[in-house]
Amino acid sequence: DSKPPVNAIIRPDFQFETLGIGGLDSEFSTIFRRAFASRVFPRGLINKLGIQHVKGILLYGPPGTGKTLIARQIGQMLNAREPKIINGPEVLNKYVGQSEENIRKLFADAEKEYKQRGDESELHIIIFDELDAVCKQRGSGAGGGTGVGDSVVNQLLSKLDGVDQLNNILLIGMTNRKDMIDDALLRPGRLEVHMEISLPDEKGRAQILKIHTQKMTENHAIEPDVDLQELAHLTKNYSGAEIFGLVKAATSFAFNRHVEPGTLATVKKDVVDLKVRRDDFLNALEEVKPAFGVSEEELE
Ligand code: ATP
Repeated sequence: DSKPPVNAIIRPDFQFETLGIGGLDSEFSTIFRRAFASRVFPRGLINKLGIQHVKGILLYGPPGTGKTLIARQIGQMLNAREPKIINGPEVLNKYVGQSEENIRKLFADAEKEYKQRGDESELHIIIFDELDAVCKQRGSGAGGGTGVGDSVVNQLLSKLDGVDQLNNILLIGMTNRKDMIDDALLRPGRLEVHMEISLPDEKGRAQILKIHTQKMTENHAIEPDVDLQELAHLTKNYSGAEIFGLVKAATSFAFNRHVEPGTLATVKKDVVDLKVRRDDFLNALEEVKPAFGVSEEELE
C-alpha cells in the first residue's frame, strides 16, 4: 500500500487515551498534522521547504465538546508555556476603551522573547475563547455596535500579519458560531486551519465515560453492573461536558446512600466503602439532560 500515513506526526500506534480527550482522535491528529508538523522538525529542514508555521487555528462547534481541552493538550505536547487565555466578552466589557491595548499586551511577551532568542524562543500559545463576541460587531454598524469589536479584530489582524517573522506564536480561536467570525480573520496566514469539534458519537461517548470514571475503576469504587457501552448508548446528544456532569450526578446518588436518613448530609458512621452503581447512573440520566438537538422522538 503506497498511501502515505494519515499524518506524519501522530503515529498510528499513538495512545490517544493518555490525552484524556475522548472521541476526538482524528480531529486531534489532523490539527496536529496541519498546524504542528512543521514545529517538531528542526528549523533547518523547515527552511529548506521555504514554508512558514501556521500561526492560527480555529476550533468551532457546540459548547462543552472539548475545544479547551484540545487547546491545552496541544500546548503540553509541544512543551509550550502555559497558554494565555482570553475571552471575547471579557475583552469587550471588562476593559472598555482598552481592548486594543489588551490585544497588544497578549502578544508582547512573545514578541519580546522572539527579539531576544529568535527561533530558540518557546512557543507562545494564545487561546481566544468566544471569539465571535468580538467579531460580530465589525463593520455591522447595526445594533448600536460600539466599534470596539472592529478595533479588536483589526488589532488581531495587524498582530497576526505582523508576526511573519515571529515563529513562536500560535493563536487558537474558539467559537460556537463560526458563521459570525469575520472572514478576514480566517484567511491563510491568519486563523487558517479550521476544525469542527462536534458532539461525540457513541464510540466517543464510551471513551469519555471511561476517562471520567477511570479513577473509580482503578480504586474499585464502581460496581461491575455499570456498563459504559450501555451508558454511551443512552447518552445520545450529550456533550463531553454533559457526560462529565452525568458522572458527577451519579456519584452524588452514591453518596446519598450513605447519608443518615432524616438528615441532609450527616454521613453514616459505618461508611468504609463507596461504590457507584448502575442505578445511580440511571437516576443521573433523569437529571442531567443534553442541551442540544434532542427531541422526544429521538429519545424513543
Ligand atoms: P465551550 O465552547 O463552552 O468553551 P469547550 O468545547 O471548550 O466548551 P471544554 O471546556 O473543553 O469544552 O470541556 C469542558 C469539560 O468537559 C472538560 O474540562 C472535560 O472535563 C469535559 N469534556 C468535554 N469534552 C470532552 C472530551 N471530548 N473528552 C473528555 N472530557 C471532555
